[in-house]
Amino acid sequence: MKKNSKGKTIIEVKNLVKKYGDFTAVDGISFEVHDGEIFGLLGPNGAGKTTTLEIIETLRDETEGEVIVNGFSINKQPAEIKKIIGVQLQQAGFYPNLNLVQLIDLFAGLYGVDVDPDKLLAKVSLVDKKKSQVKDLSGGQKQRFSIATTLINNPKIIFLDEPTTGLDPQARRNLWELVKQIRDSGATIVMTTHYMEEAEYLCDRVGIMDQGKIIDIGTPSSLIDGLISRGFEKKKEVREATLEDVFIDLTGKELRD
Ligand code: ATP
Repeated sequence: MKKNSKGKTIIEVKNLVKKYGDFTAVDGISFEVHDGEIFGLLGPNGAGKTTTLEIIETLRDETEGEVIVNGFSINKQPAEIKKIIGVQLQQAGFYPNLNLVQLIDLFAGLYGVDVDPDKLLAKVSLVDKKKSQVKDLSGGQKQRFSIATTLINNPKIIFLDEPTTGLDPQARRNLWELVKQIRDSGATIVMTTHYMEEAEYLCDRVGIMDQGKIIDIGTPSSLIDGLISRGFEKKKEVREATLEDVFIDLTGKELRD
């Protein structure tokens, strides 16, 4: 059963501005994230995606505007927001001498929650690696572990900044299924990615950001329909398969890590 009533607004961003000195990184954006959806923030390098995410996560101050997360204001109730969100840590945030179980116990202690490390590691297929240190994991395993750590406090909203960058096709697909499972268990996911096929497959809605502004927002399919209705035609005939299909066909769907 879903934890949340899917569809209502869980994050509201209103006229958000972030300036670094004279430079405007986020230029008056407004958008909403719906409860229970996977929302993707897409855009070229430097568009302002990470800055926007970090302001919503209460990790960075805004210059102007308002952000409400599950009814709480980022300015007035940041501690309430921290309790209900999960943010993917960069590897640098993991103590190098601890194994996966010890790291989970440490984070659970910091959050003041009780967690069964085996159950959590089973969700991300890492029970076999429970005694390993993060540095000894493969790229895909590291990403899965960092996603597992976002689940420790059973958050309502999970933020994933480029979760599949650098992974092989099998590991990426495996992570896509994990992200969908997390959404299907009732959480809301806000993510960034530079892979458009990933956004198309995973995201219920996407916002496209460029030079600090959101220039379009909608479901992937409504944005594609919009482009076609503006007269867009693909120059090249689309083939029935891609090189990635060849790769998966030859090397299989099984995880290698
Ligand atoms: P990427 O896809 O490359 O991760 P992004 O869309 O996440 O990019 P941001 O990291 O939000 O972009 O950066 C937006 C702009 O703000 C960039 O031009 C960046 O150089 C600038 N910027 C980010 N953080 C700071 C900072 N602490 N001080 C000054 N400028 C910054």
